Amino acid sequence: MSNVIDLRSDTVTLPSPAMRQAIFDAALGDDVYGDDPTVNALEKLAAAKVGKEAALLVTSGTMGNFCAVLAHCGRGDEVIVGDKCHIYNHEAGGASVLGGVAYHTVVNTDTGELPLAAIAGAIRDRENLHAAMTRLVCLENTHGGCGGVVVAPSYMAEVKKLAHANDLKVHLDGARVFNASVALGVDIKEITQHVDSVQFCMSKGLSAPIGSILAGDADVIRKARRLRKMLGGGMRQAGIIAAAGIVAITEMVDRLAEDHVNARILAAGLNTIPGITVDMHKVQTDMVILTITDGRDLGTLINQLKAHGILVGGFGANSIRAVTHYGIDSNHIEATLETFRTLMSQPASGGSQAVEGAYR
Ligand SMILES: *Cc1c(COP(=O)(O)O)cnc(C)c1O
Repeated sequence: MSNVIDLRSDTVTLPSPAMRQAIFDAALGDDVYGDDPTVNALEKLAAAKVGKEAALLVTSGTMGNFCAVLAHCGRGDEVIVGDKCHIYNHEAGGASVLGGVAYHTVVNTDTGELPLAAIAGAIRDRENLHAAMTRLVCLENTHGGCGGVVVAPSYMAEVKKLAHANDLKVHLDGARVFNASVALGVDIKEITQHVDSVQFCMSKGLSAPIGSILAGDADVIRKARRLRKMLGGGMRQAGIIAAAGIVAITEMVDRLAEDHVNARILAAGLNTIPGITVDMHKVQTDMVILTITDGRDLGTLINQLKAHGILVGGFGANSIRAVTHYGIDSNHIEATLETFRTLMSQPASGGSQAVEGAYR
């Protein structure tokens, strides 16, 4: 696989040498007893980083979002989510299936926002015995379903104001929130100050092998810790994971800027190829969404790319998603552009092939 250029996702990143060393050297204990010093150090560091009272190491972003929704909501409560968000589309309906929480969807703008008027319209009257009780609004930043766009902190401040005025909490699915802070050139707290809880992934662009952080006030994190245990996510010598997480949030954040530069170069290059268009306004972080406009079959093209050692994912009916990350350098970008140029200059072959590997 060494010659493969894997642009399917930033989740394919492998741990850095410093992470492998930190894992090797980590002081360990039983984290269910609260005894793992490396987990404790990571949770303290992560909470401080995002400006919250407490933090919890969880196995995945999905588990972090799940624990957050259930820490904020009880059975029969309702959560307002965007119709393009990850929580609603890619987490197996967990909060509903396992937690009895109903999703109330609002149509996302293609900039990753939920219009304020739509949020206001989705909030139920608590006195109405026919309605579920609205408890929570979930935002996503960067917004994956909208192609990795950055959601403005000023907008998030408005959502928080509206939510709090209606006795609701705000949770941020910040799987890639460090990409947002790097793209904006602001401290992460400029974003996370506008939410009551935040989940971020260490296993995506930050390149840790496993793990996400859920952060919020002490009471929410205490509830989330119980939920994590219920899910089987109470891990023992989890310092093995936390050690890489500490490296992720201390050493791997600033370099996300390189991924963003590479994404811009890839996008600009693709945009010059006949039969491909890229909306450059939406190339804000590590994702490039390219639309095939010459009518050729998407599945066939993806398989041809694969045969040339380039892995990408399908994104909707006519588009491909390519994600830059740690391990992808300018040579890989050049090679990718060269292959696209070659394949797109050939006439489309007949027939259609299934697109595997949907967006994640
Ligand atoms: C990847 C992702 C998640 C889930 O993270 P996992 O660690 O894969 O469970 C949640 N939200 C968004 C926006 C994501 O991109």
